[in-house]
Amino acid sequence: MGENTGRRLLDRVLSGVPSGENPLTHVRDLPERPAVSAPWPDWVPDGVRASFARCGVRRPWAHQVEAAGHAHAGRHVVVATGTASGKSLAYQLPVAVALTADPRATALYLAPTKALTADQLRAAVALDLPGARPAGYDGDTPMSERDWVRAHARWVFTNPDMLHRGVLPAHGRWAGFLRRLTYVVVDECHGYRGVFGSHVALLLRRLRRVARRYGADPVFVLASATVSDPAASASRLSGVDCVAVTADGSPRGGRTVALWEPPLLAELSGENGAPVRRSAGAETARILADLVVEGARTLAFVRSRRGAELTALGARRALSEVDGVLAGRVAAYRAGFLPEDRRALEAAFACGELLGVASTNALELGVDIAGLDAVVMAGYPGTLASFWQQAGRAGRAGDGALVVFVARDDPLDTYLVHHPAAVLDKPVEATVIDPTNPYVLAPQLACAAAELPLTPDCLAGFGGVHAEAVVTGLVADGALRKRPTGWFWTGRDRPHAGVDIRGSGGEQVAVVEADSGRMLGTVNPGSACATVHPGAVYLHQGASYVVDELDLERGLALVHEEDPEWTTSPREVVDIAVLSVAERRRAGSSGSVCLGEVAVTAQVVGYLRRLPSGEVLDQVPLDLPERTLETRAVWYTVDEGLLRAAGLPPARVPGALHAAEHAAIGLLPLFATCDRWDIGGVSTALHPDTGAATVFVHDGHPGGAGFADRGFAAFVPWLTATRDAIAACECPSGCPSCVQSPKCGNGNEPLDKPGAVAVLAALLDALDSGGDLA
Ligand SMILES: [Zn+2]
Ligand SMILES: [Zn+2]
Repeated sequence: MGENTGRRLLDRVLSGVPSGENPLTHVRDLPERPAVSAPWPDWVPDGVRASFARCGVRRPWAHQVEAAGHAHAGRHVVVATGTASGKSLAYQLPVAVALTADPRATALYLAPTKALTADQLRAAVALDLPGARPAGYDGDTPMSERDWVRAHARWVFTNPDMLHRGVLPAHGRWAGFLRRLTYVVVDECHGYRGVFGSHVALLLRRLRRVARRYGADPVFVLASATVSDPAASASRLSGVDCVAVTADGSPRGGRTVALWEPPLLAELSGENGAPVRRSAGAETARILADLVVEGARTLAFVRSRRGAELTALGARRALSEVDGVLAGRVAAYRAGFLPEDRRALEAAFACGELLGVASTNALELGVDIAGLDAVVMAGYPGTLASFWQQAGRAGRAGDGALVVFVARDDPLDTYLVHHPAAVLDKPVEATVIDPTNPYVLAPQLACAAAELPLTPDCLAGFGGVHAEAVVTGLVADGALRKRPTGWFWTGRDRPHAGVDIRGSGGEQVAVVEADSGRMLGTVNPGSACATVHPGAVYLHQGASYVVDELDLERGLALVHEEDPEWTTSPREVVDIAVLSVAERRRAGSSGSVCLGEVAVTAQVVGYLRRLPSGEVLDQVPLDLPERTLETRAVWYTVDEGLLRAAGLPPARVPGALHAAEHAAIGLLPLFATCDRWDIGGVSTALHPDTGAATVFVHDGHPGGAGFADRGFAAFVPWLTATRDAIAACECPSGCPSCVQSPKCGNGNEPLDKPGAVAVLAALLDALDSGGDLA
């Protein structure tokens, strides 16, 4: 298609924009990157080279050789390069050489998703290394096969959940495998963040401890998207010091990146009469159709499964007016497809039979689709790592490609399309984990003690003083008993089954289809009132259900299949109390910024029904119990002097703080790898614990997941971005793109958009002149 394909495709898309609209906020041409290959290292025997050659690798890229060389030399390594840069070879090479050289050596591969694990297992099988016996071991592995895997497999592909529940508690049965464990591969390690990431960090420490018991000290090889300071992130996750390899030697075509903001619509109005933008999904469907007409192989990323279906449908409808045959070349792809359906769709897309695919982020991980002509993103995918991973699907060497980022109705998206440098010139954010969170550490140490008694020595590896404090608590609770040789688990049953490493612990609420008795999934008890309250629309694998009954005592939500045209969002009343202050900084003489522990008491009091256009149908009241979450929060106080400086009379203070709170929650994901559903906020014109007007932003998980801590550390850039995002939105008095929140407990009232800008500006001024944050 030629070098300026990206620009040509963009011109085509722009020619379809109605006159008078200018959705384009920025265009940037990213240059082509040439390939840097390297010869096979001497330590790779001919047989292994031949295996890779059979799979199409004739000559490796320089970064693959560099990373593999570190691992082969016994150094823990993280390879952090772009999408489709061949990170797999960096670990396959040392593992293949080790398994070939020593007929008893073993290796363990871990990935966050089953789909990726299956892909990587297929690749290992294809290498056809004599005696390597690669095998999968996850929840789907039949019991009859599991014995064989434990006894004979030498290259085991699994996930953290199975390592936690299946391998470590029964390590005696894995003794042969663990004794010869040479490599541990942790793929897509940037995906381990928040509470899940903190659990996985401790799980890897448990694995090392158990392996050492059998005399093994495996080398860790981690693979990551390009992130800032990958060595530090990988070392924090794995608990071992890692060398980083970041110079990407794989070739990449030039790309044109366009930032796109859908126009405000005059004819519709949303909550409290706020203006509504044309939806990112509808805009994406139109762009997708235009690109398919041009014959461009295009992948559109849409946040929800239903959104992906609707986008594909919208594009097909637009195309059927032009050419019925083209309409048949667009499809939707989502999680929940059977593996064979998924592979058939991928094959049709790879060979060009399909031209346009609308997908959820399910496709984001690992699946080998790259070299496309265009990628369209309907909404920011949450992190820069995901943004570049999705954008990385576009572009072949020697050929240009187009990437369009379409902003959704959301303050973070608004900020990004108006601040291109924040997307295009920033290093990808470090993943946030907190392995010292006592709510994570306590169950993890209980599991560790049940695997092998804990000794003072091993507590050092689990967080030192933090671990000691948690162990003291476990002893006081009677879960552990101190003996001369260490701390022992006292229970008859192992604690593993009760520890949910992906959630916040506690009994899960089961979501069950009433007619069939089929269990669709589970939700955290903490979020059940908000996600599966009566009347809630619940999506599962692309199908839509409506909740009939929520029984919190039995841990059960009963649903029936139904696909109403609206979505639901809960309305909550929230109260917050300060339990302790860990850190405090002054903002001049009239404000302060604090980090500490809080108790958040919330009650879901109703829900809103909303059409896909954003239009609100009605609000339905609910009667559900209160629940309390103890967690960490960052908060700031502003006293009367500062409010006067901002020009805010008392009557405007609640609306100004509330609007500033919403936007700050929307922008924190730019600084901490969370999404806005991982965090919450409370604002009040007078808080009893602080004695001043206060805005709180808190973690959504018990004990915190590190997000509030990140907010405190990056307070000035965070609130500066918040102020700028609000100021950049051209709506008159607040809309979802700036200060309205889809999860507001108060129905987005009161909100004072200019007041929020004024109070944030005054606070930042005070910090700049008199504060110690400057
Ligand atoms: Zn707005
Ligand atoms: Zn609110």
